[in-house]
Amino acid sequence: MKKMADGMYRILGEGAFEYLAKAQTLEREGKKVLHFEIGQPDFPTPQHIKETAYQSIEENFTGYVSATGILDLKEVIQDEIENSRRFRPDVDQILILPGAKPGIFFPMMSLVNPGEDIIYPDPGFPTYGSVVKYLNAGDVPIALKEENEFRLNPDDIAEKITNKTKLIILNSPQNPTGSVMSKSEIDQIAELAEEKDIFVLSDEIYSKMLYDAKFHSVTVRDETKERTIILDGFSKSYAMTGWRLGYVIGPKPIIEKMGLLMINALSCTTSFVQKAGITALQGTQEPLKEMMKAFRERRDAIVKGLNEIPGFSCLTPQGAFYTFPSIKGTGMNSREMADHILNQAGVCCLPGSAFGPYGEGYLRFSYATSVENIKQAMEQIKESFE
Ligand code: PMP
Repeated sequence: MKKMADGMYRILGEGAFEYLAKAQTLEREGKKVLHFEIGQPDFPTPQHIKETAYQSIEENFTGYVSATGILDLKEVIQDEIENSRRFRPDVDQILILPGAKPGIFFPMMSLVNPGEDIIYPDPGFPTYGSVVKYLNAGDVPIALKEENEFRLNPDDIAEKITNKTKLIILNSPQNPTGSVMSKSEIDQIAELAEEKDIFVLSDEIYSKMLYDAKFHSVTVRDETKERTIILDGFSKSYAMTGWRLGYVIGPKPIIEKMGLLMINALSCTTSFVQKAGITALQGTQEPLKEMMKAFRERRDAIVKGLNEIPGFSCLTPQGAFYTFPSIKGTGMNSREMADHILNQAGVCCLPGSAFGPYGEGYLRFSYATSVENIKQAMEQIKESFE
Protein backbone atom coordinates (compact mmCIF):
# COMPACT_ATOMS: atom_id res chain seq x y z
CA MET A 1 0.00 0.00 0.00
CA LYS A 2 1.08 3.56 -0.63
CA LYS A 3 2.08 5.64 2.40
CA MET A 4 -0.59 7.64 4.19
CA ALA A 5 -0.23 11.34 5.00
CA ASP A 6 2.81 12.01 7.23
CA GLY A 7 0.73 13.23 10.17
CA MET A 8 -0.91 9.81 10.51
CA TYR A 9 2.44 8.32 11.50
CA ARG A 10 2.77 10.87 14.30
CA ILE A 11 -0.72 10.84 15.87
CA LEU A 12 -1.04 8.65 18.99
CA GLY A 13 -3.72 6.71 20.86
CA GLU A 14 -4.66 6.64 24.54
CA GLY A 15 -3.22 4.33 27.20
CA ALA A 16 -6.62 3.91 28.86
CA PHE A 17 -8.00 2.10 25.83
CA GLU A 18 -4.88 -0.06 25.52
CA TYR A 19 -5.14 -1.24 29.15
CA LEU A 20 -8.92 -1.69 28.90
CA ALA A 21 -8.28 -4.07 25.99
CA LYS A 22 -5.65 -5.97 28.04
CA ALA A 23 -8.13 -6.29 30.93
CA GLN A 24 -10.88 -7.48 28.60
CA THR A 25 -8.59 -10.21 27.23
CA LEU A 26 -8.09 -11.49 30.80
CA GLU A 27 -11.83 -11.30 31.44
CA ARG A 28 -12.53 -13.37 28.34
CA GLU A 29 -10.21 -16.00 29.84
CA GLY A 30 -12.51 -16.03 32.89
CA LYS A 31 -10.36 -13.86 35.22
CA LYS A 32 -11.99 -11.20 37.38
CA VAL A 33 -10.60 -7.66 36.96
CA LEU A 34 -11.26 -4.59 39.09
CA HIS A 35 -11.28 -1.55 36.82
CA PHE A 36 -9.45 1.70 37.57
CA GLU A 37 -8.33 2.62 34.06
CA ILE A 38 -11.09 4.58 32.34
CA GLY A 39 -11.84 8.21 33.22
CA GLN A 40 -15.58 7.90 33.32
CA PRO A 41 -18.00 8.34 36.26
CA ASP A 42 -19.66 5.03 37.16
CA PHE A 43 -22.97 6.82 37.79
CA PRO A 44 -25.84 6.82 35.29
CA THR A 45 -26.83 10.07 33.56
CA PRO A 46 -29.43 11.70 35.88
CA GLN A 47 -33.02 10.78 34.98
CA HIS A 48 -34.27 14.34 34.34
CA ILE A 49 -31.54 14.83 31.70
CA LYS A 50 -32.52 11.60 29.95
CA GLU A 51 -36.20 12.63 30.00
CA THR A 52 -35.41 15.81 28.04
CA ALA A 53 -33.66 13.80 25.35
CA TYR A 54 -36.57 11.31 25.12
CA GLN A 55 -39.02 14.18 24.84
CA SER A 56 -36.98 16.04 22.23
CA ILE A 57 -36.87 12.93 20.07
CA GLU A 58 -40.64 12.49 20.55
CA GLU A 59 -41.07 16.09 19.36
CA ASN A 60 -38.98 15.27 16.30
CA PHE A 61 -36.15 17.60 17.26
CA THR A 62 -33.96 15.27 15.22
CA GLY A 63 -32.77 17.27 12.23
CA TYR A 64 -29.70 19.36 11.49
CA VAL A 65 -29.26 22.40 13.70
CA SER A 66 -26.91 25.40 13.57
CA ALA A 67 -23.27 24.34 13.11
CA THR A 68 -22.16 26.34 16.12
CA GLY A 69 -24.94 25.07 18.41
CA ILE A 70 -28.55 25.87 19.28
CA LEU A 71 -29.24 29.33 20.63
CA ASP A 72 -31.13 28.21 23.75
CA LEU A 73 -28.17 26.08 24.91
CA LYS A 74 -25.76 28.96 24.19
CA GLU A 75 -27.90 31.27 26.32
CA VAL A 76 -27.84 28.81 29.20
CA ILE A 77 -24.05 28.59 28.83
CA GLN A 78 -23.84 32.40 29.01
CA ASP A 79 -25.59 32.21 32.41
CA GLU A 80 -23.38 29.29 33.44
CA ILE A 81 -20.18 31.23 32.68
CA GLU A 82 -21.51 34.33 34.40
CA ASN A 83 -22.20 32.30 37.56
CA SER A 84 -18.98 30.29 37.55
CA ARG A 85 -16.43 32.71 36.02
CA ARG A 86 -18.08 36.08 36.64
CA PHE A 87 -18.17 37.36 33.07
CA ARG A 88 -20.74 36.96 30.31
CA PRO A 89 -19.45 35.87 26.88
CA ASP A 90 -21.39 36.90 23.76
CA VAL A 91 -23.47 34.23 22.10
CA ASP A 92 -21.18 34.20 19.07
CA GLN A 93 -18.17 33.46 21.28
CA ILE A 94 -19.66 30.04 22.05
CA LEU A 95 -19.22 26.90 19.96
CA ILE A 96 -21.08 23.71 20.95
CA LEU A 97 -19.19 20.53 20.16
CA PRO A 98 -19.74 16.77 20.17
CA GLY A 99 -17.73 16.16 23.36
CA ALA A 100 -14.88 18.14 24.86
CA LYS A 101 -12.19 16.46 22.77
CA PRO A 102 -12.83 18.44 19.56
CA GLY A 103 -12.40 21.44 21.85
CA ILE A 104 -8.76 20.40 22.11
CA PHE A 105 -8.22 19.38 18.50
CA PHE A 106 -9.98 22.32 16.82
CA PRO A 107 -8.28 25.14 18.78
CA MET A 108 -4.85 23.53 18.40
CA MET A 109 -5.47 23.13 14.66
CA SER A 110 -6.83 26.65 14.35
CA LEU A 111 -4.05 28.45 16.20
CA VAL A 112 -0.76 26.68 15.59
CA ASN A 113 1.37 26.31 12.46
CA PRO A 114 4.04 23.63 12.03
CA GLY A 115 7.17 24.69 13.92
CA GLU A 116 5.35 26.97 16.39
CA ASP A 117 5.59 25.82 20.00
CA ILE A 118 2.85 24.49 22.24
CA ILE A 119 3.47 24.39 26.00
CA TYR A 120 1.44 21.80 27.91
CA PRO A 121 1.50 19.87 31.21
CA ASP A 122 3.29 16.52 31.45
CA PRO A 123 1.97 14.19 32.81
CA GLY A 124 -1.16 15.41 31.02
CA PHE A 125 -4.17 14.36 29.00
CA PRO A 126 -2.64 12.33 26.11
CA THR A 127 -4.52 14.20 23.36
CA TYR A 128 -2.44 17.36 23.94
CA GLY A 129 0.90 15.72 23.15
CA SER A 130 -0.55 13.63 20.36
CA VAL A 131 -2.06 16.61 18.53
CA VAL A 132 1.17 18.60 19.02
CA LYS A 133 2.98 15.82 17.16
CA TYR A 134 0.25 15.47 14.54
CA LEU A 135 0.51 19.19 13.74
CA ASN A 136 4.32 19.03 13.63
CA ALA A 137 4.30 21.81 16.20
CA GLY A 138 7.17 22.38 18.63
CA ASP A 139 6.68 19.97 21.53
CA VAL A 140 7.22 21.76 24.86
CA PRO A 141 5.99 19.60 27.75
CA ILE A 142 6.39 21.09 31.22
CA ALA A 143 7.09 18.63 34.03
CA LEU A 144 4.54 18.64 36.85
CA LYS A 145 6.52 18.02 39.99
CA GLU A 146 5.34 15.95 42.92
CA GLU A 147 7.05 18.40 45.32
CA ASN A 148 4.74 21.10 43.92
CA GLU A 149 1.76 18.73 44.37
CA PHE A 150 1.72 18.32 40.57
CA ARG A 151 0.63 21.91 40.03
CA LEU A 152 1.97 23.62 36.91
CA ASN A 153 4.56 26.17 38.00
CA PRO A 154 4.39 29.55 36.18
CA ASP A 155 8.19 29.98 36.50
CA ASP A 156 8.73 26.70 34.63
CA ILE A 157 6.51 28.02 31.84
CA ALA A 158 8.27 31.41 31.77
CA GLU A 159 11.59 29.62 31.26
CA LYS A 160 10.34 27.79 28.17
CA ILE A 161 8.74 30.75 26.41
CA THR A 162 10.50 31.87 23.22
CA ASN A 163 9.38 33.90 20.22
CA LYS A 164 8.10 30.61 18.75
CA THR A 165 5.62 29.99 21.58
CA LYS A 166 2.07 30.17 20.22
CA LEU A 167 -0.13 28.35 22.70
CA ILE A 168 -0.15 27.31 26.36
CA ILE A 169 -2.52 24.55 27.44
CA LEU A 170 -3.71 24.55 31.05
CA ASN A 171 -5.81 21.89 32.78
CA SER A 172 -7.00 22.45 36.35
CA PRO A 173 -8.39 20.36 38.03
CA GLN A 174 -5.98 18.07 36.27
CA ASN A 175 -6.01 14.67 34.62
CA PRO A 176 -4.09 12.46 35.54
CA THR A 177 -2.90 13.88 38.88
CA GLY A 178 -6.06 15.48 40.37
CA SER A 179 -4.03 18.62 41.12
CA VAL A 180 -5.70 22.04 41.29
CA MET A 181 -3.65 25.15 40.55
CA SER A 182 -3.82 28.08 42.95
CA LYS A 183 -5.42 31.38 41.97
CA SER A 184 -2.07 33.14 42.07
CA GLU A 185 -0.39 30.51 39.83
CA ILE A 186 -3.19 30.84 37.30
CA ASP A 187 -3.12 34.64 37.43
CA GLN A 188 0.64 34.66 36.87
CA ILE A 189 0.18 32.57 33.73
CA ALA A 190 -2.61 34.88 32.50
CA GLU A 191 -0.25 37.85 32.94
CA LEU A 192 2.62 36.05 31.25
CA ALA A 193 0.42 35.14 28.25
CA GLU A 194 -0.67 38.75 27.91
CA GLU A 195 2.84 40.14 28.23
CA LYS A 196 4.27 37.69 25.65
CA ASP A 197 1.17 37.67 23.41
CA ILE A 198 0.44 33.94 23.57
CA PHE A 199 -2.88 32.08 23.25
CA VAL A 200 -4.10 29.99 26.21
CA LEU A 201 -6.43 26.99 25.96
CA SER A 202 -7.84 26.24 29.39
CA ASP A 203 -9.23 22.71 29.65
CA GLU A 204 -11.80 23.15 32.42
CA ILE A 205 -13.69 19.88 31.96
CA TYR A 206 -13.31 19.16 35.71
CA SER A 207 -14.33 22.68 36.84
CA LYS A 208 -17.25 21.35 38.90
CA MET A 209 -15.29 18.46 40.39
CA LEU A 210 -13.43 20.02 43.30
CA TYR A 211 -13.23 18.83 46.92
CA ASP A 212 -12.18 21.84 48.99
CA ALA A 213 -10.36 24.20 46.64
CA LYS A 214 -12.25 26.95 44.80
CA PHE A 215 -12.35 27.02 41.02
CA HIS A 216 -10.48 29.78 39.25
CA SER A 217 -10.15 30.34 35.51
CA VAL A 218 -7.27 31.89 33.55
CA THR A 219 -9.91 33.38 31.25
CA VAL A 220 -11.17 36.01 33.70
CA ARG A 221 -8.34 38.39 32.75
CA ASP A 222 -9.37 38.92 29.12
CA GLU A 223 -12.84 37.36 29.45
CA THR A 224 -12.04 35.17 26.40
CA LYS A 225 -11.99 38.25 24.15
CA GLU A 226 -8.34 38.30 23.08
CA ARG A 227 -6.27 35.20 23.77
CA THR A 228 -7.94 32.73 26.13
CA ILE A 229 -10.27 29.87 25.28
CA ILE A 230 -12.35 27.88 27.76
CA LEU A 231 -13.00 24.22 27.13
CA ASP A 232 -15.75 22.67 29.24
CA GLY A 233 -18.35 19.96 28.83
CA PHE A 234 -20.91 17.57 30.23
CA SER A 235 -19.12 14.20 30.13
CA LYS A 236 -17.76 14.17 33.66
CA SER A 237 -19.94 16.47 35.81
CA TYR A 238 -23.21 15.06 34.48
CA ALA A 239 -22.04 11.48 33.79
CA MET A 240 -22.67 11.97 30.05
CA THR A 241 -19.48 10.56 28.45
CA GLY A 242 -21.33 8.67 25.70
CA TRP A 243 -23.65 11.52 24.78
CA ARG A 244 -20.78 13.58 23.34
CA LEU A 245 -21.42 17.15 24.40
CA GLY A 246 -18.96 19.93 25.17
CA TYR A 247 -18.20 23.52 24.25
CA VAL A 248 -15.50 26.12 23.76
CA ILE A 249 -15.70 29.84 24.41
CA GLY A 250 -13.15 32.16 22.87
CA PRO A 251 -12.42 35.25 20.77
CA LYS A 252 -15.08 35.71 18.06
CA PRO A 253 -12.81 35.41 14.97
CA ILE A 254 -11.42 32.09 16.24
CA ILE A 255 -14.87 30.72 17.12
CA GLU A 256 -16.12 31.73 13.67
CA LYS A 257 -13.32 29.77 11.96
CA MET A 258 -13.82 26.76 14.22
CA GLY A 259 -17.49 26.88 13.17
CA LEU A 260 -16.21 26.22 9.65
CA LEU A 261 -14.31 23.18 10.92
CA MET A 262 -17.63 21.99 12.40
CA ILE A 263 -19.41 22.53 9.07
CA ASN A 264 -16.77 20.62 7.16
CA ALA A 265 -16.21 17.78 9.61
CA LEU A 266 -19.47 17.24 11.51
CA SER A 267 -22.20 19.67 10.30
CA CYS A 268 -23.46 20.10 13.86
CA THR A 269 -23.64 18.56 17.33
CA THR A 270 -26.56 16.14 17.81
CA SER A 271 -29.75 18.21 18.17
CA PHE A 272 -31.57 16.43 21.03
CA VAL A 273 -28.33 15.95 22.97
CA GLN A 274 -28.02 19.75 23.08
CA LYS A 275 -31.53 19.97 24.56
CA ALA A 276 -30.46 17.50 27.24
CA GLY A 277 -27.48 19.78 27.93
CA ILE A 278 -29.87 22.64 28.75
CA THR A 279 -31.56 20.50 31.38
CA ALA A 280 -28.20 19.41 32.78
CA LEU A 281 -27.17 23.02 33.42
CA GLN A 282 -30.56 24.41 34.41
CA GLY A 283 -31.99 21.48 36.34
CA THR A 284 -31.19 20.28 39.85
CA GLN A 285 -27.47 19.95 40.68
CA GLU A 286 -28.23 17.40 43.41
CA PRO A 287 -26.92 14.37 41.43
CA LEU A 288 -23.58 16.19 40.94
CA LYS A 289 -23.39 16.92 44.69
CA GLU A 290 -24.16 13.28 45.51
CA MET A 291 -21.55 12.10 43.03
CA MET A 292 -18.89 14.38 44.54
CA LYS A 293 -19.77 13.14 48.02
CA ALA A 294 -19.20 9.57 46.84
CA PHE A 295 -15.96 10.55 45.09
CA ARG A 296 -14.66 12.16 48.28
CA GLU A 297 -15.19 8.96 50.27
CA ARG A 298 -13.56 6.93 47.53
CA ARG A 299 -10.65 9.35 47.29
CA ASP A 300 -9.97 9.06 51.01
CA ALA A 301 -10.20 5.24 50.83
CA ILE A 302 -7.86 4.89 47.87
CA VAL A 303 -5.26 7.37 49.15
CA LYS A 304 -5.13 5.54 52.47
CA GLY A 305 -4.93 2.14 50.74
CA LEU A 306 -2.20 3.17 48.30
CA ASN A 307 -0.07 4.66 51.07
CA GLU A 308 -0.16 1.30 52.87
CA ILE A 309 1.48 -0.52 49.94
CA PRO A 310 5.26 -0.80 50.45
CA GLY A 311 7.17 1.41 48.02
CA PHE A 312 4.07 3.43 47.07
CA SER A 313 3.31 6.97 48.19
CA CYS A 314 0.28 8.99 47.26
CA LEU A 315 -0.76 12.64 47.64
CA THR A 316 -4.40 13.58 48.25
CA PRO A 317 -5.87 14.91 44.99
CA GLN A 318 -7.88 18.14 45.22
CA GLY A 319 -10.11 17.63 42.18
CA ALA A 320 -11.37 15.24 39.46
CA PHE A 321 -11.42 11.51 40.32
CA TYR A 322 -7.85 10.38 39.77
CA THR A 323 -4.92 9.54 42.05
CA PHE A 324 -1.34 9.49 40.87
CA PRO A 325 0.75 7.48 43.35
CA SER A 326 4.52 7.35 43.12
CA ILE A 327 5.96 3.85 42.80
CA LYS A 328 9.57 5.05 42.85
CA GLY A 329 10.16 3.15 46.09
CA THR A 330 9.51 -0.20 44.36
CA GLY A 331 12.32 -0.09 41.80
CA MET A 332 9.90 -1.03 38.99
CA ASN A 333 9.00 1.22 36.08
CA SER A 334 5.40 2.24 35.56
CA ARG A 335 4.58 -0.15 32.72
CA GLU A 336 6.13 -3.12 34.53
CA MET A 337 4.12 -2.15 37.59
CA ALA A 338 0.79 -1.66 35.76
CA ASP A 339 1.27 -5.03 34.03
CA HIS A 340 2.22 -6.72 37.30
CA ILE A 341 -0.84 -5.26 39.05
CA LEU A 342 -3.13 -6.35 36.22
CA ASN A 343 -1.74 -9.87 35.85
CA GLN A 344 -0.91 -10.69 39.49
CA ALA A 345 -3.53 -8.68 41.39
CA GLY A 346 -6.38 -8.51 38.85
CA VAL A 347 -6.49 -4.72 39.13
CA CYS A 348 -6.36 -2.54 36.02
CA CYS A 349 -4.73 0.88 36.40
CA LEU A 350 -2.59 2.91 34.00
CA PRO A 351 1.16 3.50 33.84
CA GLY A 352 2.02 7.15 34.49
CA SER A 353 4.15 7.08 31.34
CA ALA A 354 0.92 6.85 29.29
CA PHE A 355 0.52 10.55 30.19
CA GLY A 356 3.96 11.65 28.97
CA PRO A 357 7.61 10.96 29.82
CA TYR A 358 7.40 12.89 33.10
CA GLY A 359 4.68 10.47 34.27
CA GLU A 360 7.29 7.72 34.61
CA GLY A 361 7.54 6.43 38.17
CA TYR A 362 3.80 6.83 38.82
CA LEU A 363 0.48 5.07 38.21
CA ARG A 364 -2.95 6.54 37.58
CA PHE A 365 -6.00 5.14 39.32
CA SER A 366 -9.43 6.46 38.28
CA TYR A 367 -11.53 5.93 41.41
CA ALA A 368 -14.85 5.79 39.58
CA THR A 369 -15.73 2.60 41.43
CA SER A 370 -17.19 1.63 44.83
CA VAL A 371 -15.35 1.89 48.16
CA GLU A 372 -15.67 -1.92 48.47
CA ASN A 373 -13.93 -2.40 45.12
CA ILE A 374 -11.25 0.08 46.17
CA LYS A 375 -10.56 -1.76 49.45
CA GLN A 376 -10.57 -5.12 47.67
CA ALA A 377 -8.17 -3.85 44.98
CA MET A 378 -5.74 -2.41 47.55
CA GLU A 379 -5.71 -5.76 49.42
CA GLN A 380 -5.07 -7.67 46.20
CA ILE A 381 -2.21 -5.36 45.21
CA LYS A 382 -0.61 -5.72 48.65
CA GLU A 383 -0.95 -9.51 48.49
CA SER A 384 0.58 -9.63 45.01
CA PHE A 385 3.88 -8.47 46.52
CA GLU A 386 3.89 -10.99 49.38
N1 PMP B 1 -9.94 16.90 28.75
C1 PMP B 1 -9.58 16.14 29.79
C2 PMP B 1 -8.56 16.66 30.73
C3 PMP B 1 -10.15 14.87 29.98
O1 PMP B 1 -9.76 14.13 31.00
C4 PMP B 1 -11.11 14.41 29.04
C5 PMP B 1 -11.77 13.06 29.15
N2 PMP B 1 -11.05 12.05 29.76
C6 PMP B 1 -11.45 15.24 27.97
C7 PMP B 1 -10.85 16.48 27.85
C8 PMP B 1 -12.42 14.80 26.91
O2 PMP B 1 -13.75 14.79 27.31
P1 PMP B 1 -14.91 14.29 26.35
O3 PMP B 1 -15.15 12.87 26.68
O4 PMP B 1 -16.10 15.15 26.66
O5 PMP B 1 -14.48 14.46 24.93
